[in-house]
Amino acid sequence: MDARGPGGEELGIDLAVFGSPSAKRVVLHTTGLHGIEGFAGSAIQLALLERGLPAIPDDGAIVLVHVLNPFGMAWLRRVNESNVDLNRNFLEPDEEYASPAGGYAAFDGLLNPKTPPSLDLFYAEAAWLVARHGFNQLKQTIVGGQYAFEKGLFFGGAQLEQGPALFSSWVEEQLGASDHVVAIDVHTGLGKSGVDTLLVEDEVGGPLYERLKARFGERVTPWDPDAGVAYAIRGGYPSMIPRACERARVDLVTQEFGTTIPFLVLKALREENRWHQWGDATLDHPAKARLKDTFCKPTPTWKSEIVRRGLELFDASVDLTFGEHYMCDPKRLFS
Ligand SMILES: [Zn+2]
Repeated sequence: MDARGPGGEELGIDLAVFGSPSAKRVVLHTTGLHGIEGFAGSAIQLALLERGLPAIPDDGAIVLVHVLNPFGMAWLRRVNESNVDLNRNFLEPDEEYASPAGGYAAFDGLLNPKTPPSLDLFYAEAAWLVARHGFNQLKQTIVGGQYAFEKGLFFGGAQLEQGPALFSSWVEEQLGASDHVVAIDVHTGLGKSGVDTLLVEDEVGGPLYERLKARFGERVTPWDPDAGVAYAIRGGYPSMIPRACERARVDLVTQEFGTTIPFLVLKALREENRWHQWGDATLDHPAKARLKDTFCKPTPTWKSEIVRRGLELFDASVDLTFGEHYMCDPKRLFS
């Protein structure tokens, strides 16, 4: 990739394929689409490798993708080298990288001051906006994605970014002929601390929603601002996999682990963005450390819950893909 790390080091998207290179049934585990959120996903993958992978049938494969946005993880950012939120960047080939009218523009001044971090009235102004617009509408407008303010938060980009383009091509070439793909994309920062929500691109009662709810339980939630912790997005990663694997049935969940309350998440994003865009962007600033602690909570309980739940969902996905015969013995999990 063209982007470089803080020490000038080369960056790339590392992935490992276990099993058949021309698999018909695939478990795909991805992390770090939002750079800084990759610490949690990486911990799950490391725990998985340490524990040992389950048996893989002859026509199956398990694919682990370590950090889809290496720039963001290396620079302690949620976005990539172009300040793009990659979960807003996978638009349909004929979709325009343009914002819907209204909405985000009204909040740009509050969210993206053109100065390094300093004391201001962010909380008071944000509280006033919630009172005026309602939390769900505000959440949807602000974090749903925008394509106009390239130095702002939740910017979806002006074109398909290099990392997403490389990874989309890889998926199309390597997994395009598969029949069934079960995918988990790990994120953090939304929902109750230490608990995961499993977001699906469907509505309540839709076939994917029902299928995954039957398998994964009550934590399955649609991407809908009124149905749970999430919000509707355009250009999300979950829309790319079915496009790239046209022939396959795709069961994809975004596994979202909560860390703290939405205001604190937004404030941490805002301060890091100010430091990165309008300050020195160095990693030793409190805004960088705070962003990391906001998306990867530095407590042993939170970390162990993430790994436990991450492994649990992975095993359920293996079961869904390969059948129960291939499940790990759950007693082995925590021994
Ligand atoms: Zn995320």
